[in-house]
Parts: sequence; structure tokens; C-alpha cells
Amino acid sequence: MASGKAFDWKIFARLYQYSKPYRGGFAVTLILVLVLSGLTVVRPEQMRNMLDVAVPGGDSMQILNVAIWFFVVLALEIVLQYIQTLAANSVAQSITLDMRERVYAQVIRYKLNYFDKTPVGQLVTRHIGDIDGIAEVFSVGLLDIIRDTLKLLVIVGFMFFLDWKLTLIVMLPIPILLWATRLFQQAVKKSFQDVRNEVARMNVFVQEHVTGMNIVQFFNRQKIENEKFVEINAQQRDAHIRGIWAYSVFFPVVEILSALSVSLLLWWGVKSSLNLEMSPGLILEFSTFIAMMYRPIRQMADNFNVLQMGVVNAERVFKLMDEDHSEEDTLHEEMQEVNGRIEFRNVSFQYVENQPVLTNFNMIIEAGKSAAIVGSTGSGKSTLISLLNRFYEINSGEIYIDDVALSKLPLVSLRKTIGVVLQDVFLFSDSIRNNLTLYNSEISDERMIAAAKMVGAHEFILALPGGYDFDVKERGTLLSTGQRQLLAFVRVFLQDPKIVILDEATSSIDTESELLIQRATELLTKDRTSIVIAHRLSTIQQADVIFVLEKGEIIEQGSHSELMTLSGHYRNLVELQYKK
Ligand code: ATP
Ligand code: MG
Repeated sequence: MASGKAFDWKIFARLYQYSKPYRGGFAVTLILVLVLSGLTVVRPEQMRNMLDVAVPGGDSMQILNVAIWFFVVLALEIVLQYIQTLAANSVAQSITLDMRERVYAQVIRYKLNYFDKTPVGQLVTRHIGDIDGIAEVFSVGLLDIIRDTLKLLVIVGFMFFLDWKLTLIVMLPIPILLWATRLFQQAVKKSFQDVRNEVARMNVFVQEHVTGMNIVQFFNRQKIENEKFVEINAQQRDAHIRGIWAYSVFFPVVEILSALSVSLLLWWGVKSSLNLEMSPGLILEFSTFIAMMYRPIRQMADNFNVLQMGVVNAERVFKLMDEDHSEEDTLHEEMQEVNGRIEFRNVSFQYVENQPVLTNFNMIIEAGKSAAIVGSTGSGKSTLISLLNRFYEINSGEIYIDDVALSKLPLVSLRKTIGVVLQDVFLFSDSIRNNLTLYNSEISDERMIAAAKMVGAHEFILALPGGYDFDVKERGTLLSTGQRQLLAFVRVFLQDPKIVILDEATSSIDTESELLIQRATELLTKDRTSIVIAHRLSTIQQADVIFVLEKGEIIEQGSHSELMTLSGHYRNLVELQYKK
């Protein structure tokens, strides 16, 4: 258990807060639980009445009467139980809904470095499995413990009231039961945790490998990855079996002890009834009580685990909620007219402690100008883009758009100002239309189609089955890289930002798409401040200024012709590329 404590009341109290909006439903279930516990003794009482009073009296009307009442009480119990289960579960599901909403609303605002270090499968497990476990606290765990405790108290109390000596005798095996219960509870708790961990591991594994399936197959890793999977799968099975083993030992033990109680009852009861000290009805009633008494004790061990695991899950989910990776959006200057001048002033940044990517970095791009950045892989080009969008926080220095420091700018207006076509275009598994408009209802179909025509994407979209309604499937796998890039251009066109950034795809695309993309780039960068990160140097010769980046530093800067006369790094790159 994460906190090491047997039961964390603090977490439980915090969890309980979530039930506040549903107090009404919770109260109803609690009242029903109380009524149901009271009702438990009624039917055994009726049975004793039948045997001891109605049967010896021989009054068939009375026997029928008792039988009818027996049925009525049973029906009542069933109906109440039905309402209670329904109420408890609807409260639990409402709480689950609230929690999921809150967790998601929070996570969606986290800084990207959080996602860099958190496996997707783990977040999925938190959102789905862990919160389900929490729901059980409210649907079964808590209420069942209350119900079973009450039932037990009512039953034992009533037994004492009927015959305290007999009660003490039939309860002789109870201490053994309590001891066995404790052992069982510990074993189950351990296996519960193991199962949870194994489930999380498998989620992470499957998610990762499905996403990277092409790599698995390219490199003929099927056999090795399959072996890893088999191992994780086997561990999951073993964890489950350990849990089931505990149950399979514990339940027969309970049966044996309960049989022992019944034997004691019969031995003592029959002996006493021979002396006419005890009625047969009472013996029957007690034997019913014994069955009723053992069941809640057995279940309580189980339910306590549910409760405890729910609290452990809650602890994990709360931890996720408490991690403050969200983007604080408080102090703010609104951007009025944006000109689009960009300045990096003394910016230092590192993704990972002690591995600086940028140190005292300076760069100025004047409003309305087109800039290009070239540089070898890993030199920090994409990093500049992420920082300009405040996906990560810089360690020192400041980035300005016009004269406004980025850190003072509301993220919403910052990101409205900048349009980005990223290196890997991400598409949602949705229609082309929704991927282009991103559900912005202000964008009409006409505008969308006009933009697609401008960019040169309209034709290939129409050629797809369903056209703009074509579902691109997860991550846009049904489209080529060039097509995806073109869609990303349309997206930015529709957004109509002051600043555009294009991070060219490193992977090669066919000449036709390349021409389309080049034309779209020219269109998109016209009358805007633009940054093009280029891998194909032919695309950037018209740029107003070219920056050559190396290990996070600008080593050359100027126009194409200026840099060519320098005979430096840039010229080298150009000559290399043309030689190919
Ligand atoms: P490419 O031409 O291959 O796209 P790039 O110039 O865009 O390269 P960046 O992605 O900016 O390079 O990476 C710059 C450095 O930062 C690299 O050393 C890289 O290892 C590191 N880096 C990039 N992204 C992260 C990240 N999310 N977490 C940690 N380090 C990162
Ligand atoms: Mg990059």
C-alpha cells in the first residue's frame, strides 16, 4: 500500500467530499440499509411461530396466515433490496462521473513535460480502472460493511434475547473464524494489489506496442515482443490465481466452522428439547440465524478489501490531481493589435535537469518577415517552436511577441496568434471536416472548402470515399504524410493567425505533394511573420532571414545570398544537398 497505513482516513475523508452532492441518494440508501437489517430477524421469527404455535394448534387458517406474511415480508425485502442496490449504484456512478470529469479537465491542461514522462497506459489506468475501483467504495464497500455490521448486531442481539446460553454455545467457533478472516483479508489484499499492478503493466505494454506495431514488424521483433507479452500475461494470471486461492481456502473454512456451530446447536438443542426445555421452532430459528451470521462475517473481509483498495486508488488519483502541471493563467495583458515581431532574449532551457538545450539564446524576427531555421537533427529547432507556444516553461530569459512577454500573455490569445504545422501531423480519428475545423462552428463549409482549394488539398479529399466526411481513423493512419501535412495547412489557414510556423516533415514525401506543400507554404507565409524549419533547403531561398542552428546556438544568420558568400556552414549544407 502506497501510504503504508492500514487505512488512510485522510484520503477517505477527501473521497467522502465527492459524495456531498448526492447526500439525498446516500441518505436513502442508508435508511434502506437500516430497515433491511431490522427485517433480517422477521422471517426466522415467523418460522418459529409456525412450528411452535401454528402447527401444534392445528389451525390451518393460522398456518396460511403465517405463510402469507412470510411471503409478504420476503417480497418487501426483495423490493427494498432492489431499490437500495439501484440507489447505491447510481450514487457511485455519479461520483465516478464527477471524478473522471475533474481528472480529465485537469490533465488536459498539464504542461507537455508531464506527458513526456508519464506512460500513456498509466494515465489510461488512472482514468478507467482506478476510478472504477473508487466507485466500488460507494456502491458496495462502505454500505455493505454498514449493512453487514448492523445485521450481525441485530442477529446476535436477538439470539441473546431468545436464549443467551444457546447463543454462547453456537458462537464457540467464532474466534477461529475471526482469526481466519484476518489471514484471508491480508492474503486477498496483497493479491488485489498485485492484480492491479499487473493490469496497469499490461495496459502500458499493449498500448505502446499497438502504437509502435510498424516498428515491431519492421525489425522482426514479433517473437521477442510476444515472449515479453506472454510473460506479463502469465504474471497477471498468477496474481489472479493467488487471489482465487485465498478465496478457495477461506470459503470452505467458513463452511466447516458454520457446520460446527450447527452441530453444537443440534447437540445442545436436541438434548434440551428432550427435557422439553427448548422448542423445535427455536432450534430451526437458530440454525437460520447461524447461516445468516456467518455470511456477513465472511463478506465483511471482502468488503473491507474493496474499501481499502478504493482508498488506495483514490490516493493515486488524488496524487495525479494534485500534481501541479497545469498552466497558471492569471496575470494577464491582453494582446490588442498583433504585429508579430518575435524575440528570444537570453533564453535558457532544459527538458531534463543538467542537460541544457538552449543557453542564453537570442533571436529576433521582425514583424511580417519570413524566417527559416536550418540545422542538424537535435540542434533545437523544434524546441524553439515548443517554447514559443509555451508548451514548456523556460528556465530563464524571456520570449516576446511585439513588446509583450510570453509569460504575461494568456495562453488562449497566445495560441490564437500562432498557427503551427508540426513535424508529425496529428489527426484525430474523426472526419476530415472535424479535423480541419476542430469543431469550431464559426467555420462554414464554404470557407473550409475554399481554404482546402487554396492549399491544394481539395482534390485528394474529394477522391476519398465520403470526401470531407471520410474518417481518417486513429492518428490519421489512412492518409499519407504529405496528405496529412496539407490538412494541417488547411487547419492553420482557417485559424488565420498572425504568426505561422512550419516544422517540415523530415520523412520524404513525393514530388507532387512537395510542390503542393511548397505552394501552400508560400501562400500561408504571405503577409505574416513566419518561421519555416526546413530540411529541404530549396524551399527557403526566398526567406528574409535564415538562421543556422547548431547545438542550441545560432552560428550563422542572413539571407540566402549573404550566407552563400560567407562560405560557411550554410553553403556547405546547400552544396551537400545539391550534390545528392
Ligand atoms: P530534428 O531536426 O530532428 O527535428 P530538432 O532540431 O527539432 O531536430 P529538438 O527536437 O528541438 O531538435 O531537440 C533538441 C534537443 O532536445 C535534443 O537533444 C533532444 O534530445 C532534446 N529533446 C527534445 N525533446 C525532448 C523532450 N520532450 N524531452 C527531453 N529532451 C528532449
Ligand atoms: Mg524537430
